[in-house]
Amino acid sequence: MKFGGTSVANVERIKNVAQHVKREVAAGYDVAVVVSAMSGKTNELVAWCNEASPLYDQREYDTIVASGEQVTSGLLALTLSSIGIKARSWQGWQVPIETSAAHGSARISAIPSKNLDDGFAAGEVAVISGFQGIEPLSGRITTLGRGGSDTSAVAIAGAIGAERCDIYTDVDGVYTTDPRIVPKAQRMDRIAFEEMLEMASLGAKVLQVRSVELAMVHKVKTYVRSSFDDPENPNPGTLICDEEDIMEQQVVTGIAYSKDEAQITLRDVADRPGVAAAIFVPLADANINVDMIVQNISADGASTDITFTVPQAEFQRAKDVIEKARKDVVCDNVETNMDVSKISVIGIGMRSHAGVAATCFQALAGRGINIRAITTSEIKISVLIDAAYTELAVRTLHTLYGLDKA
Ligand code: ASP
Ligand code: MG
Repeated sequence: MKFGGTSVANVERIKNVAQHVKREVAAGYDVAVVVSAMSGKTNELVAWCNEASPLYDQREYDTIVASGEQVTSGLLALTLSSIGIKARSWQGWQVPIETSAAHGSARISAIPSKNLDDGFAAGEVAVISGFQGIEPLSGRITTLGRGGSDTSAVAIAGAIGAERCDIYTDVDGVYTTDPRIVPKAQRMDRIAFEEMLEMASLGAKVLQVRSVELAMVHKVKTYVRSSFDDPENPNPGTLICDEEDIMEQQVVTGIAYSKDEAQITLRDVADRPGVAAAIFVPLADANINVDMIVQNISADGASTDITFTVPQAEFQRAKDVIEKARKDVVCDNVETNMDVSKISVIGIGMRSHAGVAATCFQALAGRGINIRAITTSEIKISVLIDAAYTELAVRTLHTLYGLDKA
């Protein structure tokens, strides 16, 4: 069971979490609980690091930001004990959750389960601090990157061979799209790992993307459910599972959008071997995450246009990198646009169905929405459009693919 920041926001909420744990213990389960820091806590800790020293040492950053989870794990263990459930807190280093040395965004390398298994044998609930680990060589505390306690939970579920991993949050599952835009969005009973990866990386901010990757690789049955449900009688939430476990496969299962896009277009780029590398290698070296890339075949064999997108926060840096790269890349001019958003239609059923892209383009045209760029994968179609049309496009496509709640 994993509880996010809003689920452990204060002692009152932690008492509510204890009731959810009590239900599973009463059902006969050994339970490992992973907790986040109280909501807002990690942001506060990060701000303190910046205030103390803007060019902080990542090792000390980890020491500081890992502390939020230490508080909630102790509080939950105390609360459980107070209602008669044997429980013990575990920090990352005590489990141990072994990680790489990449402080601030470490990767889990191993989780020996002996300590937790001993606790289960003694009838104790293990309450584990999410987000943190230890780098075995230095013995120093590490953290897994923002939102990392989802990844902690899935990794621990895998390590102890859990029957399932329930991720409790403030929404009761994964929706076909953002319910704030489409009130008729529906909670899905099941979604395939691959679809969830697309939804998660496209801004359906329910789970950290890495946790979904991990769940997929280790086949951990993961539920997204709400801690705000009645602890006696909660909804099952959304199961993220293998596509074979989904009986009735729909062609399209969800519509995702991202307003966090910025478009950069290089016009009349000299079309010869090496130009794409001359643009994208420096961007990669600068750690800039490029998403869509569109290049056409040049008509005259001499020049072509290249368009790509980056997250808005990286836009300025990307522009600087491109300006520098222009000494190796002959191009006419560079155009940019921050007022764009990306809409994506997702579904593994697309693999075996023709015409999904065509109906998508037609529906957008019917609304007078111009498509600036298109990319596809075998389970996704993404279009870049003017940001002003985001809501209209999402609603139109949600209806088009029959996702509206009756
Ligand atoms: N507390 C950490 C964060 O806010 C980790 C997590 O909650 O998943 O990023
Ligand atoms: Mg989270």
